[in-house]
Amino acid sequence: MTELAAPPVEERTGVKRISHWIGGRVHSGDSGRSGPVFNPATGRQTGEVDFAAVEEVDQAVQAAKAAFPAWRAVSLARRAELFFRIRELVSARREEVARLLTAEHGKVLSDALGEVTRGLEVIEYCCGIPTLLKSEYSEQASSGIDVYSIRQPLGVVAGITPFNFPAMVPMWMWAPALACGNTFVLKPSEKDPSASLWTAELLKEAGVPDGVFNVVHGDKVAVDAVLAHPDIAAVSFVGSTPIARYVYETATSRGKRCQALGGAKNHMIVLPDADIDMAADAAVSAAYGSAGERCMAISQVVAVGSVAEPLIAAIRERIPKVKVGDGLDPSSEMGPLVTRQHRDRVASYVENAPGEGARVLVDGREGAPADGFFLKPSLLDDVKPGTRAYDDEIFGPVLGVTRVATYDEALRLVNDNPYGNGTAIFTRDGGVARRFQFDVQAGMVGINVPIPVPVAYYSFGGWKASLFGDRHIYGPEGIDFYTRGKVVTSRWPDPATSKVDLGFPQTR
Ligand code: NAD
Repeated sequence: MTELAAPPVEERTGVKRISHWIGGRVHSGDSGRSGPVFNPATGRQTGEVDFAAVEEVDQAVQAAKAAFPAWRAVSLARRAELFFRIRELVSARREEVARLLTAEHGKVLSDALGEVTRGLEVIEYCCGIPTLLKSEYSEQASSGIDVYSIRQPLGVVAGITPFNFPAMVPMWMWAPALACGNTFVLKPSEKDPSASLWTAELLKEAGVPDGVFNVVHGDKVAVDAVLAHPDIAAVSFVGSTPIARYVYETATSRGKRCQALGGAKNHMIVLPDADIDMAADAAVSAAYGSAGERCMAISQVVAVGSVAEPLIAAIRERIPKVKVGDGLDPSSEMGPLVTRQHRDRVASYVENAPGEGARVLVDGREGAPADGFFLKPSLLDDVKPGTRAYDDEIFGPVLGVTRVATYDEALRLVNDNPYGNGTAIFTRDGGVARRFQFDVQAGMVGINVPIPVPVAYYSFGGWKASLFGDRHIYGPEGIDFYTRGKVVTSRWPDPATSKVDLGFPQTR
């Protein structure tokens, strides 16, 4: 009797295998190392992602290196045409990738669609690459001599991305990198890796040549291999502050260009003259949207003077109305957290709050769905600097309130904080808002806007421990980051200007 071969592991267990993408095709990992991927709404494992060994990272870099000469020579007209095609494909299939995001990250489908839409804006910006790479020209800088500048790609560049925006943050990197003529190696988060393979297949379908875009999955081993690789010219990183600092220091010590965006603790100052309903709507949306797993989430409200009581009452009134559930259920407004470990860590801040002198006004541990990694919105009052709940980036649906007497005290809190990603002020007083914009030490400022993520034709980035490196991501600074300048001084045979002159070149 002939024995039938066992069906693939995916069919037997319902757990899909997620592999690398190298040189235009799926590359099954052979390191022997892998990690689980969960559906956070059910708590069940749905995938197993291969973790790359040093050799596999090298294979991806070699594929990117081989593709670079031809890719950088592709005309701007053709690159723009390709980007229009990518834009059309992502736009047409955005729901497909949004479902992948919800299934592995947990965010609700409408929020996942919002993530793809914001990423799409960066792709749209890159459709204008011929204009973005226009340079300067000085005719007759010296007699018979013209001078002009050009910007050229760096070569192979890498992106290392966090779990909370598995489609959009990679788009912030690969779109400008490719548009500028670089080839790319992406190391996405191992917690929700499927969107990166969806992207790879889409880029291939759009006509991006094999090797121009590669994906290697993994953990510290893969990241360290990227940082050590001599053929990688630049690294973009987005993630937590300790890893951002490590990536920046390691990459730059090896001569690579690096931009490393880190964590955040975003304060929202509410002045006594603010529109209370508008401020409360904004605080609830910005603190609990995506279960607080956004680097631009508001995690700390600073209530100035008499605004505290009515503001807290308005926030408390709204919290029970936030519908928490599986992100695929269209009525859900807030999904689960990404892993059980992260959910438990976030819950520990609520548990420890009374011991730190804060008051738990709303406890999100109560009534949270039992399956999956759920925690409902929590609200803490009297959260003071020097406590864990204030000092740490919680990265979950826990909103703290700090009460202060004056605007100056509120400003000091923001400026004394080690992070400087986003911040917001809610007021009707244009003069104070303008002062705030002038004085505050943060990279992105909202005036009556709680999540001031810049549109694609500006650049995104924080200050202080929220960014290591001197260039923000996407927009004009993204184009700058992925190119280097060259200045050409040229002269053509012209008998009127030619003579022997051994002196140091001077303009005449
Ligand atoms: P993380 O720092 O744990 O992971 C980010 C990346 O680094 C992942 O690809 C991961 O595999 C890798 N990594 C993790 N540990 C590593 C180690 N020890 N050595 C080398 N590489 C390592 O971040 P996360 O939990 O995935 O994402 C959440 C964090 O990202 C939050 O702090 C959030 O504020 C931050 N974030 C910042 C921005 C921003 O623009 N500033 C945007 C999104 C997220």
